[in-house]
Amino acid sequence: MRDKHLKKYKKIADRIVKLLPTYRAMSDSELQKQTMLLRERVKNGEKIEKLLPAAYAVVAEADRRVLGLEPYYVQILGGIALFFGNVAEMKTGEGKTLTATMPMYLRGIMGKGNFLITSNSYLAWRDAEEVGKVYRWLGLTISVGVPKDASEEEIDKEAVYGSDIVYTTHSALGFDYLFDNLATTIEEQYVNKFNYVLIDEIDAILLDMAQTPLIISGAPKVQSNLFETSDWFVKSLREGEDFLRSEDKRNVWFTDDGIVKAETYFGIQGILTEEWRDLYRHLVLSLRANQLLEENRDYVVEEGEILLLDEANGRKLIGTKLQAGLHQAIEAKEGVEITNETRSMGSITYQNLFKKFKILSGMTGTAKTDAEEFRETYNVNVIQIPTNKPIKRVDHADEVYVTNKAKVLSSLRVVKDALQKDRPVLVETGSVAMSNLYSLLLLQQKIPHNILNATTVAKESLIVSEAGRKGAVTVATSMAGRGTDIKLDEEARKNGGLLVLGTERMTSDRIDYQLRGRAGRQGDPGDTIFFVSMEDKIVVESAPKWVAKSRKKLIEKNEHAPSSDNQPLNEKKYEKIINKSQANRKNQEVESRKNILEYDEIISVQREKIYSARNNVMEGSIIFLEELIQRAKSQVIEAFVSNKNNLNRNELIDFIYNNIQYNFDSSLFDQELKEYSKKSVTEYLNMLIARQIEEVQIKIPDSFQQLYFKRIVILKAVDAMWIEQSDNLQQLKSVVNGRSWGQHRPIYEFQIEARRSFFEMKEEIWLNILRNLLLSDLVYNSDGSIDVDFP
Ligand code: ADP
Repeated sequence: MRDKHLKKYKKIADRIVKLLPTYRAMSDSELQKQTMLLRERVKNGEKIEKLLPAAYAVVAEADRRVLGLEPYYVQILGGIALFFGNVAEMKTGEGKTLTATMPMYLRGIMGKGNFLITSNSYLAWRDAEEVGKVYRWLGLTISVGVPKDASEEEIDKEAVYGSDIVYTTHSALGFDYLFDNLATTIEEQYVNKFNYVLIDEIDAILLDMAQTPLIISGAPKVQSNLFETSDWFVKSLREGEDFLRSEDKRNVWFTDDGIVKAETYFGIQGILTEEWRDLYRHLVLSLRANQLLEENRDYVVEEGEILLLDEANGRKLIGTKLQAGLHQAIEAKEGVEITNETRSMGSITYQNLFKKFKILSGMTGTAKTDAEEFRETYNVNVIQIPTNKPIKRVDHADEVYVTNKAKVLSSLRVVKDALQKDRPVLVETGSVAMSNLYSLLLLQQKIPHNILNATTVAKESLIVSEAGRKGAVTVATSMAGRGTDIKLDEEARKNGGLLVLGTERMTSDRIDYQLRGRAGRQGDPGDTIFFVSMEDKIVVESAPKWVAKSRKKLIEKNEHAPSSDNQPLNEKKYEKIINKSQANRKNQEVESRKNILEYDEIISVQREKIYSARNNVMEGSIIFLEELIQRAKSQVIEAFVSNKNNLNRNELIDFIYNNIQYNFDSSLFDQELKEYSKKSVTEYLNMLIARQIEEVQIKIPDSFQQLYFKRIVILKAVDAMWIEQSDNLQQLKSVVNGRSWGQHRPIYEFQIEARRSFFEMKEEIWLNILRNLLLSDLVYNSDGSIDVDFP
């Protein structure tokens, strides 16, 4: 089926190649004029089938003139696949940066809202600087949506998002989108077109980084002292009795016994009811902090502060905190000062952010292994683009050992062999600890090498780009320096090219391929090999159950027979164990991503509703806003009178003071309202509120100010309540995951509660619209402006 696509794209590519001479013959100014002509053709509604070949031929010729690079046939082919919203699998070194110029140019001509997404800001700048000249030469505008370095001032969002083409990072786009939806006027919204997105290293962004949603944090919450008490309690619990752990060890939850114990300890009943939700949430967080998060693996404690560690490369994540109270729970666990918990003001997963685009495409060296997930989650196909030159690289079978030690020592021999031939070697490890260990062993052998633990991606990329020199040894973790191509020097190529040596199999076969792919670019020679052992993390954590026993026996036997040390295990079954373990691990990750998405789908429905309601308010006429206010009035009255207990003098007067009029004169009250029936109370409130609205009307005579005031009044109410809700949903997630639900899944509970609280939030919004309108203090300035003090 996908071959059919490729066939079709090849036909188009052939047409482009035929057109090239026409554009080659043009003068510079003639070629530059093509942009305008193509724009005309777009305007006239010309079909893509005709436009695309012409546009691609224009860019290809411009690439040649401006950059001195003539796109290869396979790059044109990749560019076509990208234009039509596919994931193009193109190997490292095939030239993805140049490939992107073709679809980006044509999309840029067709309209605004076109993004090229990179995984960090260094790459966004590097790529934009590399090919930006071409777009500009052809008369398109391009900008970069992230600051170049920390010292740079804030970026001009209007200019950035107004460009034909934007190079930026996934997180910058996500945050800007969330911030846009806290704006009060349309002019303050910048990311308003989601036309076309091309994600570079799409697997890294949509698969590896998709585990954590983006969250904007706002004002600190009232400090809670529950973290310490919860931590005390949780530390006294026993696994198996009071709480259970999931098979993949990534989740824990209370048993019924644990719940009873908590109720006794805190002297309460019904800890799972809404009344005790906050306490229960703290218990769940403490349980997770104590049982799932490990010092020196997930975080370090430094000078009384908890610093998170990046799972992929072990770097300290300065300034990043776990959300929804988990960070504070760790602080309690480690006995350091508890920082303020911040409120989530909005959140979105990358999955849902990128699904907003009309056309989603991406490129990477490795996607085929995960094609099913790309199709299911994003509805995109993976298309394998042939390489420009045949691949000469040799991927060797794994060498399997019993122990970690035997494995590492054997692998050192291979490094030394390669060095004797003056080949470059890239050692890829699964963790920072292993990188450091390997570096130490190399030092002992007096082998000079680079270790990738640079603190900046820029420096990292520099080291990686030099890893192809003859005799160079580079030690890196799997994620380090992604997006940078390793070029061989002449001698290194002659000596057999780059040797990639993996010290263990990674969390998925996709990442293994990614590492192998660093060797053998553009038809270069090269070899790849993985050294693995029965003590590897992947086997220990994810091997099928039956393996555990035989693994132990094997290791014990090995201890008594030191002579068999260093001998690889040749039986096929060991390689199978490794493969099976990796497949298990991968499945867990796929499941976990699906799970995150399921939760975000539910949140997303609410988020979209609120965002579109906000947009209507921002764009709405005064008539529309006044209708909303009338609606708020009737909703609030209806909600109030539907509660029978409210139909008496005291409750009613209380309600009026709190929501309608601070300085209410109750002397007239008994004359105006004779009986407390539903009907009379409704009529009375209607009259009273209408009178107050009238007053506000008089206080702000200017019609423009009137419009602005009403808009702010409504937006403020929506935002305040949505922020509450957004935060509430984040917390709810951890609460429902913190216990077993017997028959049904936690997501089901989440859905029910999410919906209930959404309706409650709507009621609150109506009430707050009214309160903001009637109870705000208006302060008149001498220049005619009015300051509003909200209740
Ligand atoms: P990838 O991201 O696919 O690994 P890059 O975009 O980093 O590859 O490009 C790798 C190298 O190949 C760069 O130095 C680039 O200048 C070069 N390159 C790309 N396309 C061409 C081409 N058509 N002709 C010559 N060199 C090219």
